[in-house]
Amino acid sequence: MKLKKKIHLFSTLLMFILLVLLNVLIYFLFGKMSHNTEYEQLLGRAKELTVAISKLETEADADLVLRAFVPANGAISIVDSNDKPLKKIQSVAGLGNVNNQVKSGDSYTIDRFDGTDAFSISMPIIWPTGEVVTMNLTQLLTDVEENMRVLRYVLIGVTVFAMIPITLSSMTLGRIVTQPIEKLITAMNKSRQSGTYEKMTGVVNGNDELAQMERTFNEMMVQLEQNYRKQEQFVSNASHELKTPLTVIESYSRLLARRGLENREVVDEALNAITSETGRMKEMIEQMLDLAKSSGFQAFEFEQVDLTYLLEAAVKPLRQAYGREIIIEADGPTIVETDGKFVKQLLFILLDNARKYSDREIFTAIEDRETEVEITVRDYGKGIPQSDLPHIFDRFYRVESDRSRKTGGTGLGLSIAKEIADGLGATLSIESVVDIGTVIRVLIPKKQQRSQ
Ligand code: ADP
Repeated sequence: MKLKKKIHLFSTLLMFILLVLLNVLIYFLFGKMSHNTEYEQLLGRAKELTVAISKLETEADADLVLRAFVPANGAISIVDSNDKPLKKIQSVAGLGNVNNQVKSGDSYTIDRFDGTDAFSISMPIIWPTGEVVTMNLTQLLTDVEENMRVLRYVLIGVTVFAMIPITLSSMTLGRIVTQPIEKLITAMNKSRQSGTYEKMTGVVNGNDELAQMERTFNEMMVQLEQNYRKQEQFVSNASHELKTPLTVIESYSRLLARRGLENREVVDEALNAITSETGRMKEMIEQMLDLAKSSGFQAFEFEQVDLTYLLEAAVKPLRQAYGREIIIEADGPTIVETDGKFVKQLLFILLDNARKYSDREIFTAIEDRETEVEITVRDYGKGIPQSDLPHIFDRFYRVESDRSRKTGGTGLGLSIAKEIADGLGATLSIESVVDIGTVIRVLIPKKQQRSQ
């Protein structure tokens, strides 16, 4: 059964059952109240009758009094202590014969007479002879039954009438709930069949959960599509980048095969080229793996770390390996909540770039701000042209491929740095002037705001 039908059916059925139960309750309460009223009235009449009979002197006068008190559509019967009838006055023929014996503990009894309820109460009285007898008063409930009949029709009418808006509203509810789900199914089916990232169509208004679901789904599809395009781009870039060193290696191998045996110079040149291209490929593959590792939040482990210590640790191997002057400006330890391993890797990428693309000293500084810490890496090298700056964090992007080739770059360093910064909740900004130098700033938050 479709969800729309289920919602419609169950909500209508539930409301119908509730209405019926409510009406049955009203009906029985009304019946009970009517019987109580009848009881009160008959009791009042019986008490007056008791007073009137107590004033009688002879049994013969009793007939007159009883006749005066007999209710319309009713009867009065007097029975002695042996259940022997003494008097029977009735305004409806035969009514005095109904079972009017009220059981002890009950206030009244109801018996059927000629298709109508006969309501009876009993009361002991002192008969003019001085004997204690039982007086039974019976009343036909014609009016009460008429009222109950009308009430029945009214309640049935109300139920039928109320079911119209209930049915309509449950249908609307079913539609409201299932419409976005149907749209979602259509979008997912379309995506599955065409292999594209289809969004849910139509304008999304409101702020309820269903509208939020639609918006989230559409946003998710946009993100998935972007990620897919990025991956596609990455794979095509990566294979293109790997193809170049492979072609170089292949052509040098052929050269070796053709002329390697007789020419020592060719062997040296080929081996040099093959070693250098293999090294480049190795570096590129390692960086690609880094990129894959840093693009997942679960990769990060946040703890209290000292940024000054991390900067020193990143600078040290560069000083040793290349003998470059790298200056650190910092006022003691700078403690933040972050992933030290990834921060060090990020700093290493920035410092290595500064080293590769400049010859003079490199300046680094740590500035402790209120909620974040700024790390600056400044070099006085070739700089980056303004037109290249917007693309500098793109994967495989290099300013001048031959210059980078000479320095052994892959164009992946800054994109890895950006990926790491995103994962750490940090921001990267770059300023550069050609032939003057480059400044890269990393803003690291002191505390992590992790969304669960
Ligand atoms: P790689 O350095 O491996 O080529 P990156 O992603 O680290 O890749 O850098 C991309 C490009 O940005 C480099 O090729 C280089 O042209 C330019 N670049 C990065 N840092 C600097 C810098 N400090 N000074 C000048 N150019 C830079």
